[in-house]
Amino acid sequence: MEFVAGKGRRFVGRIYRLRVAGAVLGFPCVGSAFMQQHRGVVLWVLLALYCFAWPPIARRAALAAEVPYRGERLNLMIDAAFGGLWVVAMRFNILPSVLVIAMLSMGNIAAGGLRLFVRGIAAHALGIAVGALLIGVALDPVSTLPTLIGCVPMLLLYPLALGWATYRMSQKLAQRTRELELLSRTDGLTGLHNRRHWEGLLADEFERCRTVGYASCLLLMDLDHFKRVNDTLGHPAGDAVLQAFADMLRAQFRGSDMIGRYGGEEFGVVLTGATLAEGEAIAERFLRHVRETSAGQNARCPCTVSAGIVQCTADLPDYHSWLLAADQCLYDAKVRGRDRLVVGGNARHNETDTSDFEMGH
Ligand code: GH3
Ligand code: MG
Ligand code: MG
Repeated sequence: MEFVAGKGRRFVGRIYRLRVAGAVLGFPCVGSAFMQQHRGVVLWVLLALYCFAWPPIARRAALAAEVPYRGERLNLMIDAAFGGLWVVAMRFNILPSVLVIAMLSMGNIAAGGLRLFVRGIAAHALGIAVGALLIGVALDPVSTLPTLIGCVPMLLLYPLALGWATYRMSQKLAQRTRELELLSRTDGLTGLHNRRHWEGLLADEFERCRTVGYASCLLLMDLDHFKRVNDTLGHPAGDAVLQAFADMLRAQFRGSDMIGRYGGEEFGVVLTGATLAEGEAIAERFLRHVRETSAGQNARCPCTVSAGIVQCTADLPDYHSWLLAADQCLYDAKVRGRDRLVVGGNARHNETDTSDFEMGH
């Protein structure tokens, strides 16, 4: 995810903050062992440089890399190698040594899972080998009280910092997942439910009607002679008309009605809890509204609309047949001259008694 978005620039920022926290807390930790062992100025200077100069350098180097994510992983390995070096420099003093290696490893697991952890262990070993060559191996494992106290801030605060960073990341991830889910359900042009999602809602509503047994109507609509808008005013103007129509749908229907863009200039509304008589009245009122606004000069939506409405009834075998019945009514509305609503009976009536459609206008 990080890799795709900005090739890991956010990853670099996150690790930088953790590295600064680790350095500020690590300095007294390693430094207390140095004090216990009366280490010379060279090691102190190296420790100070590592803790206070390295984090900004590491960030810069990672951001300058072609893929910052990879640059930062390299930095983490440099950290791990230094961890090994500090262990040798502290003469394997148990508490700070274990702490430094444990905290670095924890960071590596959080940043790159088992793979980075294992690589980190190899880098620790390399750091120990280099340290042994440069500094020489000596053992002073017992930590005195001041060393113990020097380790307390790291022991207490670094896990908190890492936990906080992990929590923040999981929050952001959850937020992004929600945004992506919304995008995957939404039609990009109109902001209405897209066809796939709307059909899912329709299927759910069909099941609800069947099990709970309440009324619901399906209204399918298609803009009349919409192609002319594209042909005369251009495709962008056509898009604007579709948006204006979507705005009208949003304004005219209840929040509980499910409005979707079914096709190019075809829209569907599931009128939840509406009987056929109620649905017909609502649909007629909407068609009238569209007709009146389309007639105005400079109308945002200069098209009228044809529609078919069908109630969910017990004899419909599945939601596809519900959709098909509404589509048949819509087709009928077109054949009969457009700008009208055709009301369907149930599926059986659609097949046997076409007079049902005469309920339309
Ligand atoms: P009818 O009254 O029979 O429905 O005629 P119509 O012109 O509305 O129907 P037709 O199916 O011939 O044309 C629909 C047009 O809608 C064709 C297609 O280019 C256009 N269209 C589909 N999607 C979009 C879109 O997203 N934006 C724009 N601008 N046009 C679209
Ligand atoms: Mg059309
Ligand atoms: Mg069409």
